[in-house]
Parts: sequence; structure tokens; C-alpha cells
Amino acid sequence: MPQFHVRKVAVLGAGVMGAQIAAHLVNVRVPVLLFDLSTPGPVPQAIAVRAIEGLKKIKPAPLALADAAQHLHAAHYDADLTQLRDCDLVIEAIAERMDWKLALYQRIAPHLAPHAIVASNTSGLSITQLSAALPQELRERFCGIHFFNPPRYMTLVELIPTAETAPALLDALETFVTSTLGKGVVRAKDTPNFIANRVGVAGLLATMLEARKLGLGYDVVDDLSGKKLGRAGSGTFRTADVVGLDTLAHVIRTLQDTLSPEQDPFYASYATPAELATLVQRGQLGQKTGAGFFRKVGRDILRFDPATGDYVAGGQKADAVYARMLQRPAPERLRLLHQAEGAQGRFLWAVLRNSFHYAAVHLEGIADNARDLDLCMRWGFGMEQGPFELWQEAGWSAVAQMVQQDIDAGLALCRAPLPDWVFAGPVADAGGVHTPQGSWSPAARAFVAPRTLPVYARQIVPQRVYGASQGPARVGQTLFENAAIRVWSLPPTGPAAALGDSGDALAQRVLVASIQSKMHTLGPEVLRGLLQALDLAEREYCALVIWSPDAIFSAGADLQVLLGALMQGGVAAVTAAQQQMQDVMQRVRYASVPVVAALRGLVLGGGCELALHCSRRVAHLESYVGLVEVGVGLVPGAGGLTALARRAAERAAASGQKELLAFLQDSFSAAAKASVSTSAPEARSLGYLDADDVVVAHADELLFVAVQQARALAASGYRAPLPARFAVAGRGASATLHGALLNLREGGFISAHDYRVAGLLADVLCGGDLDAGTPVTESYLLALERAAFAELLALPATQDRIMAMLSTGKPLRN
Ligand code: NAD
Repeated sequence: MPQFHVRKVAVLGAGVMGAQIAAHLVNVRVPVLLFDLSTPGPVPQAIAVRAIEGLKKIKPAPLALADAAQHLHAAHYDADLTQLRDCDLVIEAIAERMDWKLALYQRIAPHLAPHAIVASNTSGLSITQLSAALPQELRERFCGIHFFNPPRYMTLVELIPTAETAPALLDALETFVTSTLGKGVVRAKDTPNFIANRVGVAGLLATMLEARKLGLGYDVVDDLSGKKLGRAGSGTFRTADVVGLDTLAHVIRTLQDTLSPEQDPFYASYATPAELATLVQRGQLGQKTGAGFFRKVGRDILRFDPATGDYVAGGQKADAVYARMLQRPAPERLRLLHQAEGAQGRFLWAVLRNSFHYAAVHLEGIADNARDLDLCMRWGFGMEQGPFELWQEAGWSAVAQMVQQDIDAGLALCRAPLPDWVFAGPVADAGGVHTPQGSWSPAARAFVAPRTLPVYARQIVPQRVYGASQGPARVGQTLFENAAIRVWSLPPTGPAAALGDSGDALAQRVLVASIQSKMHTLGPEVLRGLLQALDLAEREYCALVIWSPDAIFSAGADLQVLLGALMQGGVAAVTAAQQQMQDVMQRVRYASVPVVAALRGLVLGGGCELALHCSRRVAHLESYVGLVEVGVGLVPGAGGLTALARRAAERAAASGQKELLAFLQDSFSAAAKASVSTSAPEARSLGYLDADDVVVAHADELLFVAVQQARALAASGYRAPLPARFAVAGRGASATLHGALLNLREGGFISAHDYRVAGLLADVLCGGDLDAGTPVTESYLLALERAAFAELLALPATQDRIMAMLSTGKPLRN
């Protein structure tokens, strides 16, 4: 099959899902034609136009950069169908009605490109039935593509083939959804609600049922069934409110309508809970209508009282004893819960037992293997572990016995026994469904390995399920490690692997530094580790990559260390520490091998400064980047302002313009407001990423792309930049910025302390008391940074801000 390039996508349906799927496509630079029904009047594509406008107001933001909306083109079916010919992929996301979808397919079929893939985002309709309505030649290019709401943020996408879907096309689509859209793909069977919603919604219903049996309130249930249980923080009832109670009721109805007690022994537990029906009938549909199981009034969260139909005071928490139990290692945790006598403990055990029971009984019918089911629950429902993982970790046979005893005693949701494979054969022998050879597939009666599409070679550290591999959850050879940093080397891959120890192999070897201090703060140990890594990289490797396996780059300098130094040694001690930090940053910038920062999650303060000093940045789409020092009453002091001033001067010089202020204004405003980007593209617009920095959609591809970039830089004859003088904006520009600050101060928008901090920031950024255009060295500006930093740190208002940040984690406005 020729390469599958997705040049343009048509999304049919500009509702909740269609519009947000379209937004995510443009986030990753895939242009979209967004279709909806035509409306009478001068703008027949008004529904799609309004949906595109509406995207800018939805929270959490579907668009990574509001500006990306320009790549969404509104269309309607009456005039624009011919444009489908340019689309390589068509995603249908119209209202959930079989007859409407079928009618639309008839309409679009004549206009499709002969190679286009067509996929439906239906959450409940049969993909096979939808396919049957298509002309024969289209059926091999049709499948289900089930996104989760909100599609930008939810990892899971289920792909559902029919018997006729061409395997090569499905592989091509999986590759696109994985690498370009950054999603986690699971292939599901064409059964009602597919895998994640089937197991997730059955679990939600079962949880509500157990809560009612045991007389527990919604708030206590949510406290117990959220983070403490290793599940999404919104627990059970608030999750329902967020999803929308009408949407939930709809998914439940699909279970009721498409299944029967003969097909599914759990059928009785799919009854719509009475209070859910009441709330839907009253139009209290959850978050979108302002009230559901909970209602927020001012700062209070009220809870629906089914007895009276009113909202009453909520916020009740679970007993602390269960929170402690839930922190115990899995085998002990499950044993304690199984023996618990209090209502909350019995509830927790019942919830877990039901989830194991349901997953085991239904695995063969709905999924290919246990790994797929577990990943669906992690990626689609925010669980830390899928049901099989927890079961296996807690001790497969012991838990199986406890569950079966409950089934026999009539305590479970139904009397269906656990399948035979739970108790005898390969699973029982291996102590669970996940093994290093693969995960259990009841249909194949074997452990099957994850799919090996070439796209997965881009995940150097792939997602693992519990039990699937032996040994530590890390790759590479550790060269040195402490609590703050691990420095390790990546085994050569591809053609490099064949080079052995030759000089050519050395030219491919990349060293990786993984910061692992709490919140990845940059304390003395991290800085020492980075220096050591740089020395080593220059001696024996072609490049250094700074990457961490968890979802954060660095929250910045270690404030605790800074404050400690101030208390013990006064301002002089802090200045010395700061000088060290600046030296490390300069060492990064002038290293003789390229240093690539792999950014993800928080990239704040000193973390942002570190990134700015690297030769290149590779950023995951979800990167939250900013110089936030103003929030603790400081200015960036590790070279961040110097870097911004230098970059502004370089851009001004390249543009031929003498007026430097225009190039500084955005950086100044971002740092003065401590703005943090809400995505990597926004980080670029704030000036924290360069034009040739790379944005990566899939978090698990970040390391691979960073390594590729590092190798490419090295192979292209990398030379460190030469220290050069550059022009500063000077005292006139600084006065202009001060003027703007004064207006803000007089308008009451910023405090006196904000004014002082931002004023110093302006002074440093503009080069202090110099004429416009005066050439300076980096050392000159670095000294200004240190002086401003020391001046601010000595002030009680700044110290109060630091203390507040350390004790509450939030900035203090003083
Ligand atoms: P929605 O009601 O927000 O949007 C549906 C869109 O379909 C509207 O823009 C409407 O104008 C259009 N439409 C209505 N009748 C039509 C017709 N006869 N022909 C063409 N277009 C028509 O719905 P949604 O929540 O975005 O759901 C869309 C699809 O996505 C459904 O199949 C749903 O099951 C699925 N889905 C929804 C969610 C969710 O959480 N909402 C999650 C995953 C999948």
C-alpha cells in the first residue's frame, strides 16, 4: 500500500465531539473541513461557523492556540460536498441516530476520494450495520473511530473494524491516530458501547448501586472512589456530572436496548438509577446546566438529596481509616477491604470485586486481550491501573477465590461464575493475565504480544501494564544516579546498532539526563548531575538529551534551598548559589555537543531557563512553559532574562529593524505577568520556543524525537554558538516599560511590590542604564540579573511570597 498521507480531514458534524475533534486536528496542523447541516439565510454554513467560534470559549480549551481556528473551514452538505474529494480521512460525528447516519453516508459516498478512509465516532451504534449501508467498494475503507470527551485531553481512541475493513488501512489509521494525533489506540470489537464505555459505564452503574445499598452519600462515594482508589479525581457522581447526565443516560440506554439478560448476565445491573432518571427529567444534566448530582453555589458544593429533591450541604469525606487502607500494598489492601465491616469498607470491596468479576466474564466478548481492556480503563476513564492489573498485583489466585466466594454467596452483581481460565491453565500458572510474553487472550487461549506496527518503534519507553515485563520499569544503562537525577545511555538502535563500538557508533550514541527530584526542582544535586552529564557527553557521546519519564520537565529552582541559603549565609550565599546556576546554564549553552531539552508538562522558572539554554527544544503538545519568578517576588536569575534579551536582539538584527523594544515587549509582558503557556504552540507564541523547535503530539514519542533531533544536530556538524556581543534596548525602552507599569499600578491592577519586581525585570531586559543599541556581553547581563535577584530576595515582601509558595503551593499577592 502507498504511504497514507493525511493532507486534509473532513469532520461531519460540528456538535460537541465533531468540533472538538476538528480542533485537535488543527492543533497538530491537519487542516479540517468542518461540515454541518445548512441553515436558511445568508450564511448557510452558520452551524459550523458558530461551532468554530464556540471553540474559543470551551474549557478546558480544545484549541492549543486560538489562532489555529483559521485552519478550520466551515462547510455545509448542500454546497460543499465536492470538496470531500481533497480529504484523505472523513470522520463522521453527527447525532447518534442510525437512520441519520445512513442517510448522510448515501449522500457523501459519490464525492469521496477513492483512497479516503471513512470512520464513525459513534459511541453505541453497530459499526457493521453502518458499514452495510455503504456501497460495497467503500466498506473496506470504513471503521469506527471512538474518541473520548474532551478529545484533546483524553488519551484513548478505540478503532473498531468490521469483518470487511482492510487490515492495511486500519494499520495506517492507527499510525496516524497514534503519532500525528498523539492518542493511545485500542482496537475494539463491534459490541455495544465497545470496550471502555461498556466496562466503565457498567462500573459506574455498579458503584451507584452499591452506594445505594449501603446508604452512602454522593460526596463520600466520590471521596472513596476517586484518587484514593487510584481512579479519576472526579470519583463517580462528579464524573457523571462532567460527562453530562443525558449523555450517560444515553449510553446506559444503549446497553439496555442492545443487550438482553440472555446475552449478558449483568443485564439487571444496567437499570437506570432512579435519581439519574429524575435529574435528567428535571433538566439537571450536570456541569453543563450548572446542576446534577452536585450544584456549586458560590464556594460551596451542594449535593442533590433524592428524598426531598433539594440540594443540601455536601463535602462530607470518607473515614480516614479507609484512606490509610487504600495506601497499603495491593495484596494487603484487598485483604483488609475484603474483611472490612464498616459500610465504606464493604463498599470499596464490592466496587473492586464487581470490576474484577465484570472484566473477567466479558473479556472474551468485547476485547482481544486483557491488555486492551486495562489500557481502555486507564486512557478512557483515568484509572491508574486497569482491573486486571490491580487483581494481578494483589495476588491472582487469592483474589479469584474471594471473588468466586462472593458470587457463590449471591453477593456479586450476578451469579455468572468466573471463567475457567481464571482458575486453571496458563493464567493461573502465570499468576495473572499479563506476562512478559504478552497478555491473555481468551479467544486465542494464549498470551498475545502487543501489536508491532512500525509506529510503536517510536516509543522508546512504551506504556507497560503490570506484570508484562520483568525487572525495573526503565530502559538504558545507568551511568550514575542519585535521588535527584539519573544519567544513562540509550542502547543504539536501527543501523547504529550494527556499528558495534566503532567510531561511527560513537557518533550515534546519545546520553540522557533524567531529572527525578520532587517536581523536578533544580537543586544543587541536579545541577551537579547536569555538569557531570555534560562532561561525560562531551567525552563519549554525540549529544545530551534532558528528558524524564514522568509528565513534568521541571517546576523551577528549588525555593527551599534558596531560602535556606538566605537564612544561613545571607544575600551573599544566595548570589553564590545563583552564580553556580548561571554557570550551569552557560555550560549547557556552550557545550561542544548539542543539548536537547524534551519538554512536557510544567516547564517553569528555572526549568524554562534551562530549556532556553539548550541547543533545541522538543516539546510535547501539553507543555506549560513560563518564567514565573515574579509570582514569588523575584526575577528570573539563571540567565533567562539574558537569553530573552539576546534572542530579541538577534531577531531584531535579522529583521533589519533597529527598534529593539518591539522584539522585547512580548517577552517582557509574559515574564512580568508570570504567564504560563497552555500548550507548546502557545509557548512558541510567548517566545519560549524557537521556530525550528519541534512539537510532538504523543508523549511517549517525545524521547524518540528528541534523540533524533540530537543525532541530526550532531550529524550536521554541530558547533556551539560563539559568545557574541549583542545590542540592548537601553534606558529609553526601560522607561517606556516603566510607564506602562505605572499605569497598571495607578489603575490598581498590580501591587506596589509587583511594580517593583516588574520594574527591575524591565531594567535587566533592557540592559540597565545604557544607551539604546549599546553592545553588551552575556556576562554583563548575567551580573544585572544577579543584582536584581539579590535586591529582591532581601525584601520581606518577596520572602513572604516564597514562604507562601512553599507552604501552600500557590502565589501570594502582596
Ligand atoms: P451533538 O448533538 O453535540 O452534535 C450532533 C451534530 O449532528 C449537531 O451539530 C447537529 O447539527 C448534527 N446533526 C443532527 N442531525 C443531523 C442529520 N440528520 N444529518 C447531519 N447532521 C446532523 O452530538 P455529539 O455529542 O457531538 O455526538 C456526536 C457523535 O459522537 C455521536 O455519534 C455520539 O454518540 C458520539 N460521541 C459522543 C461523545 C460525547 O461525550 N458527547 C463521546 C464519544 C462519541
